[in-house]
Order: sequence, then C-alpha cells, then structure tokens
Amino acid sequence: MSGGGELKGPDLASEGASSAEVAEGGMLLGHAQGEAVLIARSEGKLYAIGASCTHYGGPLAEGVLSGDRVRCPWHHAQFCLKDGSSRAPALNPVPCWKVEESAGRVRVTGKVEPKPPARREGPESVVIVGAGPAGNVAAEALRANGYEGPITLIGGESPVDRPNLSKDYLAGTAQAEWIPLRPKEFYQEKRIECLFGARVTRIDPAARSLTLQDGKTVRFGALLLATGAEANRLQVPGGDLPHVRTLRSLADSDAIIARAAKGKRAVVVGASFIGLEAAASLRARGVEVHVVAPESVPAERVLGRELGGLLRKVHEEHGVVFHLGDVPASIDEREVVLKSGTRLPADVVVAGVGVRPGISLAEQAGLTVDRGIVVDEFLRTSAPAVWAAGDVARIPDPRTGQKVRIEHWVVAERQAEAAAKNMLGFNQPYRDVPFFWTNHYDLAVNYVGHAEKFDSVQVAGNLHGRDAIVAYREGSAIRAVATVGRDRAALEAELAFEQGDDAALERLLR
Ligand code: FAD
Repeated sequence: MSGGGELKGPDLASEGASSAEVAEGGMLLGHAQGEAVLIARSEGKLYAIGASCTHYGGPLAEGVLSGDRVRCPWHHAQFCLKDGSSRAPALNPVPCWKVEESAGRVRVTGKVEPKPPARREGPESVVIVGAGPAGNVAAEALRANGYEGPITLIGGESPVDRPNLSKDYLAGTAQAEWIPLRPKEFYQEKRIECLFGARVTRIDPAARSLTLQDGKTVRFGALLLATGAEANRLQVPGGDLPHVRTLRSLADSDAIIARAAKGKRAVVVGASFIGLEAAASLRARGVEVHVVAPESVPAERVLGRELGGLLRKVHEEHGVVFHLGDVPASIDEREVVLKSGTRLPADVVVAGVGVRPGISLAEQAGLTVDRGIVVDEFLRTSAPAVWAAGDVARIPDPRTGQKVRIEHWVVAERQAEAAAKNMLGFNQPYRDVPFFWTNHYDLAVNYVGHAEKFDSVQVAGNLHGRDAIVAYREGSAIRAVATVGRDRAALEAELAFEQGDDAALERLLR
C-alpha cells in the first residue's frame, strides 16, 4: 500500500541539485535526512515538500504541478507547496522543508515547523450526522481552518476506509489496522466529541436540535447532514437470508470474509464497481465466483461498452464466470436460481445492486429533497444552518448546471471540506471536478468528470494493452474521461475540466 521504500534522486541536503534541474513549473525528486523530498518551482519561487502522498503513498514527483499545488497521480490528492496542507483523499499534510538557492545550486536545509491555523469564528457549535468520509473530513476541516467551538460527530459506525472494504481488505491483503480513518485518540486531541454507534432519529431545524435513538436531544449552531447512502437489498425470495450480504460497512466486509472462509462458491449480483471489485477480491481468496447482472456489458452505464468489455475480459482471465442478461429469481441456503433457470450453488451471495441516499431525516424535517438532499453550490440545504455533503447531497454541477448526486469517495470528502469552510464564512462555491478510481486485480481505472449520460465513446490508445484514455461525450462536449495506465493524463484532464479548457481535453485524445 505504501509507496515508501528506496530513496531516489540526489541527497538534497548534502550535495543539492543544479538550479537548472528545477525550471519554472518543474519538480525534482530527491531526499534529505532519510526522507523523500520534492523540490518544485512555481511562479519564480522554490519550495520543498515531502514527496510521498499521505493517502496511499503515491509518488508526487510523477504527478502534476499546478499553481502552488502538487496532485498525486494515484487518487488525485493535492498538497500545497506553501504549507504542505492536503486535500482529499489525503487526510494528513506533507512536511515542508526550507530550501535555498545560491551559485546555481538548490539545497534543502531542514524542516519547517508547522504553524497552527489562525483562530476563526463560526457557529456556536457544529453537529455532524454521519461518520463516513464526509462527516470525518468536515470535522477535521473545521479544526484545520481554525474553528475552536464544540464539534460533535455522530455516526452508526466510526469512519473507515470504505474503498478498501471491496478491495485489499476483502482480498485479505490489507491489514485490519489500516481500515479506521483515524484512531480514537485523534478525535480526543482535536476535541471532536464522537458519538459512534448512535443514531439520529429526528432533526428540528427551527429549534436547532436533533434527537438520538436513546431519546437524548443535542442542540446545534450548525448541522451537517452526511448520512451517505445505504446499500439496496435484493428484492427476491430468499434475498434476506443470512448468507446474502450487501457491502457497505466494515461489518459487511467481515461477514463476507467469514462466509467465504467456510465455503468456496460465491455469486455476485450486479456487475458494477462494488460487485466486480468484490468478485476480484473473492477470486484472490480462491473462491469460485459467478457474476449475475441484467446488462450485457459490465459497468456499461458508466464506462461504456469498450472499457466495460475490458473489465469483463480481465475478470474472465481470472476465472470469473458471467451470467449477463440474467437476474436472480430466488435464493435458498444452497443456490441462486436465475430467471433463465440456471442454478448456481452459493455459500455466499454478494448483492452489489446500487444504493439509496439516506434522506429520511431530511424528508421528515421538511428539507427540499429530490433523490438526495438538495443543496446549493455552497452545500447549504433549504433550511437555515443545515448543510449536506457526500453521497446524500444533490448539488449543481458547475459544468452543466444540472443537479447531480455523485457517489465517489473524493467527492464526498471535498464537498464536506467545502461545507465546513462555508460554515465558517469562506463562502466558496464547490467546483471540484469529480474523480473516482476502481481496481480489479492489477487493472486500475481512474475516472475524471461526470457524464450523467453520454451518447458516444472515444477510445484513444490501446485499451487492451492497458494504455488508453476514453472520453464520454454528450453531443460534442466531453463530459468525462477514464484512463487505464495513464495516470498523468487523468490529472491533466482534471485540470482541463477545471479550467474549462476543451482544447486541452481534445489534445489528450490525440
Ligand atoms: P457514507 O460513507 O455512506 O457514510 C455515511 C455514514 O452515515 C454511515 O456510516 C452511516 O451509518 C451514517 N448514518 C446514516 N444515517 C445516520 C443516522 N440517522 N444517524 C447516525 N449515522 C447515520 N468511491 C470511490 O471514489 N472509489 C472507490 O474505489 C470506492 N470504493 C468503494 C467501495 C465500497 C465497498 C463502497 C461501499 C463504496 C466505495 N466507494 C468508492 C464510494 C464511497 O465510499 C462513497 O462515495 C463514500 O463513502 C460516501 O461518503 P459519505 O460520507 O457521503 O457517506
């Protein structure tokens, strides 16, 4: 998981490097005092920061420098050259180093002590409902931006690295210690009161209070609804049997692991990302996997036929058997019976059949909802002092003007950061370009932008050679791109979307 290890490039503390190696807009990888260091020159100034992404250890030197930010090629975290501060999915800053330039050489001379944030006024208290990535980042961002008031984070479970639950953790290659986003001491140190295992049953925006399942009332100055989404269950006879599992929480992943350990046959229902990632992880455990789905090409609705076809091929090469154009008709303790009459023995059934946003609290409180909690570009709901972010939020897409609800990890965290800052009066509209990643065996796909729908797909490069960029167009406009083996192009596409630079997007496809 970590990109750490052998140090590369010059020793920037002792020998330094030639100034010519760090031209304007350039980056140079080296090391100092046993740590990887990245030197960068931006707008005539030299900076030096830690060179490994604090999310999964991605190599920042292989990323893209834009203004005062370096973007990680793996999952698009960003780090500020000026103070090392991070943006999602990285939760921790990188260290900053002092750097000097004289006689045509650059050298780092030691670490810079991080400065605490300047105090900032805000609501009398902030309560966050939902302790997924959005809830967690909102709490962290409030403190990182100088809010000193009380923060309460309420969640059914404590924050976990959810994407891992269908990938390395389910495959058995990630350790259990990697899964919590933060240890409990972190919240104590940041003075974030955590009510994990608690459920909010009612909110009253007018009275600025909410009710917990045990009847207790909690008052708030501002409220963030980060209630995410719940996995849909299979609506067929036997869909509620104990070996038929959804995959959303750590408990879900553990339950599938336990079932897979006892038996050796799994049926995965659904051929989109979670179902297919679960299939790959179960194959890694030596489980026989059959995937059942109504579509004719896996993940076609999002990735199109070409890239979906590659996913199918890769899974088949790893022994997955597809039953496409089919659906389960019934399930019993031993087998799944498909509509076509095919019978598939199953010790565990994984349902990856979509999610529904957690809007019940908002509905009951009379907030505007439309298949999600409707928010404006500042993440404000229709009720004063109530905000929403993450999988539950329906937000205007700055690029199309349409209201969209997006189910991506980085989007949830960035929206939450924006909501937290806007609670503190930053008044910054949320404009980040959506990004997600998905992994299947050794195939990683990065997806940038958002194509609610597309009417043509353009593939540039060699998809089956795993060196390609795929564009999803609505009319002539590129709404999104997916990359395979071209991480840098995904970052460049992100920048092009941000800057509205259609010509740059088109150039990536040549
Ligand atoms: P959630 O993560 O759903 O968190 C909401 C939390 O709120 C939950 O813990 C819930 O219990 C709690 N809650 C809800 N209602 C209440 C209540 N009334 N009281 C108290 N608590 C409540 N995205 C990617 O971009 N890349 C990936 O590779 C990827 N992999 C994924 C793998 C899996 C297995 C899953 C399930 C999702 C994956 N995603 C991925 C999607 C990503 O995890 C979600 O977009 C993200 O978790 C959304 O965050 P959230 O905080 O909005 O909501």
